[in-house]
Amino acid sequence: MLSARLFRQFVRHKHASDHWSVLRKKNQPVDKALDHFDDFYKQVFKNNWEWMREGLLGKRKYVAVVNNYSDCEETMAKLELQGALNVRTLFKLEKQYISEKRTRLEKRRTLKQIQKLDQEMELKETKRNLSLEASLENAEIDERRLVDARNALSGEILHEFVPATKIKGKEDFIPESTHYQFYNTEQFNVKIETEYDFHFPEHLNIYCFEEGNESEFEPSPSGSTGVLNYYLMDGGSILPVLALDIQPGNKILDLCAAPGGKTLLAIQTLYPDSVVANDASGSRCNRIHQVSRQFLYDLKERWIAPKKLQITNIDGRYFSHDNFDRILVDVPCTTDRHSVVENDNNIFKPSRVKERLKLPELQCELLVNALKLVKKGGVVVYSTCSLSPIQNDGVVHMALKQIWEETKIDVVVMDLAPALMQTKSVFKLAKRNLMKYGHLVVPYLLQNYGPMYFCKLKRIN
Ligand code: SAM
Repeated sequence: MLSARLFRQFVRHKHASDHWSVLRKKNQPVDKALDHFDDFYKQVFKNNWEWMREGLLGKRKYVAVVNNYSDCEETMAKLELQGALNVRTLFKLEKQYISEKRTRLEKRRTLKQIQKLDQEMELKETKRNLSLEASLENAEIDERRLVDARNALSGEILHEFVPATKIKGKEDFIPESTHYQFYNTEQFNVKIETEYDFHFPEHLNIYCFEEGNESEFEPSPSGSTGVLNYYLMDGGSILPVLALDIQPGNKILDLCAAPGGKTLLAIQTLYPDSVVANDASGSRCNRIHQVSRQFLYDLKERWIAPKKLQITNIDGRYFSHDNFDRILVDVPCTTDRHSVVENDNNIFKPSRVKERLKLPELQCELLVNALKLVKKGGVVVYSTCSLSPIQNDGVVHMALKQIWEETKIDVVVMDLAPALMQTKSVFKLAKRNLMKYGHLVVPYLLQNYGPMYFCKLKRIN
């Protein structure tokens, strides 16, 4: 017979909170990560940290990227039948909605201006009439100035009058004043350019389930060419690639590419002439080979994508081939979502403290090298899957400072905030005032993508 105490414990399957096994469990890397984030992110995101934390610990959402080298049309039809929505269409609809709202706003403002103008004119008219009344009494009628009503301007034309000071409407989208004010306090000049739109490549077909819909995509089946029909990735990962603004004929470098998700996305635009996927880790380079085999080789092991993908295994800090049109620097980071749910390979393990503390330094070196390797006029996108302001804007700031102090390279930060408004129905983005340079997809239970920070930099000289 079990004693009552033992029985209770047996039924609860629980040890007291000070039991050694509970204490040891609480000291796992995932607990350390969460403690660290609670401490740090609460200060940054204030009350919003509560729901971001919930999202981070919740079920991550994926999008399905249609493989153009498989049965594309059929795959799209099947995904749509499952209730998935094409992200390009969602962005387009949101853009249309914003534009209509802007036109309505413009009209309302114009109307208000006309009304104000009318009132002013009326007031002037009354004043003039008052002063004229007396003199008119004695005035003689000048017959030559009488106008035939049939030839006069119609009321309709008058109603179409639009004042020259017509508001353009864009002002609503650029909180530039506050933006530049902030940069003026820096010790070096950071140039900011605003981007109002981004191009969604016509061959890139990405599917998602709408906000609040927790449906999941099935693992992809193979198509008739032997490759998989689609691949699944965290939805946040599409934004750094879209921000690259890949153009037909571009030469692309993915500096930290393994396992190759974003490289594959860049290839699926069908735009690049050549893609180099690089990673410092040999074993992770094998993952890129594996992924490309699953998606880009046919049943007879033949490469079926029209352009070449080169996989290199070089430390990105010392990568020296240059003249790329576009470079993605998707750096190693604290991988926040992984760190709070998975003890394996966790960067918060005591044995990895040094590596973790040195991350910003490494990230900065990788970004600085990319800015050197990109062509004049080319684009570098820096990205992380962390919420940490140090690894995000902090690293961009350090890298820009180093470039400014040590080289003649001229870089502009692209503010994508207005362009990103069209992504609102798919992603939850952090408030603009929380960041100086980049943009951040934040975890949120109803749109549970990210975290994904990305910052677009254009080399102008
Ligand atoms: N871009 C990848 C994707 O979307 O599938 C994920 C990249 S992961 C966040 C970061 C990668 O950087 C890891 O595969 C890691 O091996 C690699 N890495 C770490 N240090 C590096 C370095 N010094 N140079 C190049 N790659 C490095």
